[in-house]
Order: sequence, then C-alpha cells, then structure tokens
Amino acid sequence: MSAPHPETQWLSQYVLPNYGRYDVWPVRGEGPYVWDRDGKKYLDFAGGVAVCPLGHCPPPVVKALTEQANTLIHVSNWYCIDKQAELARILVEECVQIPGKCFFCNSGAEANEGLLKLARKYGQQTGGRYEIITFTGSFHGRTFGAMTATAQEKIHGGFGPLPPGFVYVPFNDLQALEAAITDKTVAILVEPVQGESGVHAVTAEFLRGAQRLCREKDLLLLLDEVQVGFGRAGEMAGWRSIIPGDEIQPDGISWAKAIGSGFPLGSFWVNDRRDLSKVLGPGTHGTTYGGSPLACAVGIATLRTILDEKLCDNAKTRGAAIAAAGRAWNQPLIKEVRQLGLFIGWELNAEAFKAKAGDKPASIFLAQKLLDAGMMVTPAGPNVVRWLSPLNITAQHAEEGLSIFKGVLDSIAAS
Ligand SMILES: *Cc1c(COP(=O)(O)O)cnc(C)c1O
Repeated sequence: MSAPHPETQWLSQYVLPNYGRYDVWPVRGEGPYVWDRDGKKYLDFAGGVAVCPLGHCPPPVVKALTEQANTLIHVSNWYCIDKQAELARILVEECVQIPGKCFFCNSGAEANEGLLKLARKYGQQTGGRYEIITFTGSFHGRTFGAMTATAQEKIHGGFGPLPPGFVYVPFNDLQALEAAITDKTVAILVEPVQGESGVHAVTAEFLRGAQRLCREKDLLLLLDEVQVGFGRAGEMAGWRSIIPGDEIQPDGISWAKAIGSGFPLGSFWVNDRRDLSKVLGPGTHGTTYGGSPLACAVGIATLRTILDEKLCDNAKTRGAAIAAAGRAWNQPLIKEVRQLGLFIGWELNAEAFKAKAGDKPASIFLAQKLLDAGMMVTPAGPNVVRWLSPLNITAQHAEEGLSIFKGVLDSIAAS
C-alpha cells in the first residue's frame, strides 16, 4: 500500500482541468528514466515532449544551472548579457550556419509570435501585405497568433473571433500553396517535420518549391523548428534532415523545447539577408524574462553537449536501428513506422485497435498500457504514438524500449 498523497486532491481542487492527464506522478529523473512517487521506474521515451535531449538532470546542464544560479540569475534586457551573446553565436555559427540574428524568449508559442510579428512588419514595409500561409496538421502553439497559425479546427474551437490574415493550405501540396498566394501574402510558416500531427515530414520537392515561390514573390520562408530542432531528426537544423547542405536558406526560424533541456527558453532567428534582421528594431518587440543569464547558461550547456558529443550522429544511428527493428516485427497492430533520427512515429492500425480499445483512441489506449508496463511515449493524434527519447540513448536503452513496446503490443494482440 502506498502512503496517502494529499496532492491528488489538491491537483483536482486547485489546478485547472485543461489537461487530460495520466494518473502517473513522476518525482525524480536520471538519464532516460523517471521514478514516480511510489517508486515505480519508467523508461522515458516521451522526453517531456521532445524537451529533454540529454535525458533527465544531465550533469553538464545541472552544473551550468547551479553555477549560474550562484552567479547571476536575471538582469533585464536594458543591459548587455554575455551568456545571450554566446548562445546566439552558437545558434548562428554552429546550428543555422547562415548569417543572422537571434531573439530570446521563453517558449515555442512566443518564438512563433515573434516570427509572425516579423512577417507583419516586413509586409507593412513592402506594400501593406499581411497574409501568412500555414498548413493543415500544423501546430504552432496556444497564444492567439500561434493558435490561429495552427491550421487545426480543434485547436481554434470556441476562441473566435481569431485574428485575421491566416490562410491554410494542405500540407505538402505545392500547387495548392501556389494557388493560395495573393498580393496580400507576406510569409509562409511551416514545420519541416510536423510532430503533433504524427511525425509527417515535408517532402524535399515541397520545401524546394516553397522556397522558390518565396523568392519569386518576396515572401518570407519561416520554419517552425520548435520540435524538430537540435538533433531530434538527426541534424542541428531540422530542415537539413530533408535537404542537406545550404540549398534551403530560411528567412526566420523558431525554437524552444530541446534548447533548454526543460528550462523555459525559446528563440527565433532572422536572416541577415536584405536587412531582414533589422526589421524588428528598437522598441518593436520584447519580453521581460527572455534571454536571462540563467536560461542562456542552460541553453549553452545543452547545445554544447549535443554538438561536442556528436549526438546528431547517435540519433541517426539509433533511430534507424529502432525503425528497422520495429518494421521487422511485422506486428499487425503497427501500420507504419516513420523515422528521422530519434523522431519516431508509430502509426497504429486503428481498425485492429478498435476491437481492443473500444471508443478510446488507439494512441491513448496504447500509451496507457505502456505506462502500466513502465514506459512513457507521447500520443500524436488518435492513431500515432511518438518516441522522443533522449538523443544520447545507448543501444541497450533502445533494446529496452523495443522490448517493452513489442511485449505490450503482443499482449494487446493476444487479448
Ligand atoms: C510544442 C510546439 C510549439 C509550442 O511550444 P510551446 O513551448 O508549448 O509554446 C510550437 N511549434 C511546434 C512545432 C511545437 O512542437
């Protein structure tokens, strides 16, 4: 018997009920593992939804966090912050590798808001254009601008009227994109790999075509790398997992999630090309917390570790091995495995699950069964579960995940 936990009552009495939570209470983590308040151990391949690229409590990050906390936690952006300069240098020189400038904020939605403001301002300066094109199945965050950019009705539900100026186009449909561009269009915002909709990558043809249209019509090519950035798909810059090298030259990029190892930190980058990085000049944009010494110290430690330990290579190798193993099972409950680096989407056979899970979405049903068996994954829509493991997992961790996953699928199939 576990001891009584008063927090169970407090959570339902005092915390807004906006999340459908699993009844699991993690209290401690180390590497790819977490332990709940009753001492049960889980293999965490959910990673806080792609937020923990180095696993839980990674020593270099804990060291940077504690040292910086003992030195200087926060000063305002009225002053010059050395850690911000250093983090921006790493982002520009070692991640994007295209001349540009960064702004620091606290979350993915905020980073996208910055890109949306950049686009609006640029549009004002170039003939009064304001329409921003986004894509079905996208996810850009929950603030008004980012929510409206998110082309999913279920995310908009009940919050209208939404801000005007957003146009939605089917994902990966270049003809539809071309047809949607008007003389009011100023930018397109796209995720190189859509995470929330179930790990769907842009095609190289689409990305190439989108860039060509942007150049022809003077539109900004904005990439939401909040989930795919920093090695998740096997490259520091997520779009290079689709088209390697320098062919794609985005105008703006948003980041959050992995950049802070769980410390709230977001950023966006703007290309120096055609003075785009001067569009948001003094007084146009800001935030109180963004880019604090503490947040940036954590960001530096996170990115340095990913870069110095070559975790992109590890993500590619481990991810490919996991996908190959999963495909070789020929498990009828799995319809398809989509994999880029350690961004792995398991598309479930919804029909086959229906007989087992009843009205419950297959992804939710499977995620619960996996929790019972000691493994965390993240649903992405009704029929996909995502593995978003740390980028530094070993072959043994991968084996462990595959073994739990297969065991649970086999037992569901046999039930
Ligand atoms: C998570 C996510 C966001 C929103 O980030 P928040 O930090 O929750 O605001 C935006 N875009 C993508 C692609 C995401 O995965």
